Amino acid sequence: MTADVVIIGAGPYGFAAATEIHRRGFKVTAIGRPFETWHEHTLDRMLLRSDARASTIWSADDRWNLPGYLAERGITQNRELPVDTFRAYLRAVTDAAPFQLHEGLVERLDAVDGGFRVTWDGGEPVTARAVVVATGMGGHQVLPEVIAALPPERVVHSWDTQAIQKLTDQSVLVIGGGQSAAESVEDLMERNRVTWALREAPLFFREPLRAPTPIFKAMLATSRLLFQLPPPILRAVSRATFRTTITPRLKAVYEDDRVETLIRDAEGLGLSLADDGSITDTDGRRYNTVVSATGFRHTVAGFSFLAPSVASAVGSPDGPPPVDRAFESGQPGLFFIGGVAESVHGPAMRFVVGCRHSAIRVADRIERNLGGSSSAAA
Ligand SMILES: Cc1cc2nc3c(=O)[nH]c(=O)nc-3n(C[C@H](O)[C@H](O)[C@H](O)COP(=O)(O)OP(=O)(O)OC[C@H]3O[C@@H](n4cnc5c(N)ncnc54)[C@H](O)[C@@H]3O)c2cc1C
Repeated sequence: MTADVVIIGAGPYGFAAATEIHRRGFKVTAIGRPFETWHEHTLDRMLLRSDARASTIWSADDRWNLPGYLAERGITQNRELPVDTFRAYLRAVTDAAPFQLHEGLVERLDAVDGGFRVTWDGGEPVTARAVVVATGMGGHQVLPEVIAALPPERVVHSWDTQAIQKLTDQSVLVIGGGQSAAESVEDLMERNRVTWALREAPLFFREPLRAPTPIFKAMLATSRLLFQLPPPILRAVSRATFRTTITPRLKAVYEDDRVETLIRDAEGLGLSLADDGSITDTDGRRYNTVVSATGFRHTVAGFSFLAPSVASAVGSPDGPPPVDRAFESGQPGLFFIGGVAESVHGPAMRFVVGCRHSAIRVADRIERNLGGSSSAAA
């Protein structure tokens, strides 16, 4: 199989980029599990933090406008959209994909003859002239050393929401001070005894960024201009506005009598394996399970499908692959989009709202590199 461009990943970033590159006349194949993060790695009771406008899967003709989708179905556009409603919207987007979409996972990416060979688990390899990696946060989970040292069967990362939703009648320790920790505690406390350990008292804030609502809205509206800022200034904006925050709705969880809260970091808990196989802390509490809501950090090593020669061309294993203003990496023709590019393209890359910017920048560069639309395009 051949394509001009393979997109690895079928989340918001992969979808927007595939749609835009296809629109410009290139033959695009996307490989991934459509919107997997939203279908399989969010809790069923979750409410979105971004509003409908900022959660739209971008396309140049705005065909997937989420406020319009909701209005057509008579769904009130309250600020916090239930994830189930969003999942239904994403299924409709998936069904309408204009490009070739293969449901599966890429196992290996090799650089061959000035292009790439993409080996995946559902069919023959695909060769392409350019590849866009849009695989999100999966594979980049952070487990502090003290938690990684515990027996793996006692530890669940907050990424594994399916496992969290199954925990019942247990003593559970949740570690972390962000939205995922708060949502995990909210879900778990209905069926379990929960202790919640946070490094510092949580910051309850309406927006996912620490910026007052009008400023956050202005940032969204002017995000196209923000992306023009030189990277050092963009980084300074990120530092000024980004701190882990939790939606105010979840303050009730923090204050709930059923939840024991400890202001202590993972190291300060002194976790170890007890004689009976449970986990114990320095105060003698016993836990069946530790939920590590300790976030994500993109590293080259976390992209396990990169062939060794490609991995070494894109960066050092312990850091994110450096990308330029068009998201192209040190391996010509290979792009990385989404949260992985946050240090160059700013904090919007962590959210659905950033997918417009990356789709346009990548499509512009591909058009320049591949010299106009493909003769192979349908
Ligand atoms: C619990 C939670 C709540 C969130 N809430 C919000 C919110 O309210 N608003 C918001 O804007 N953002 C929110 N986010 C952030 C959200 O993840 C991003 O906004 C968005 O989903 C990122 O899109 P993406 O395309 O970069 O990655 P993802 O959505 O993570 O998609 C990754 C894609 O890559 C695929 N993939 C992975 N590995 C491979 C492989 N080896 N081969 C092929 N495909 C692969 C997956 O199958 C999937 O299709 C939340 C995230 C989480 C975890």
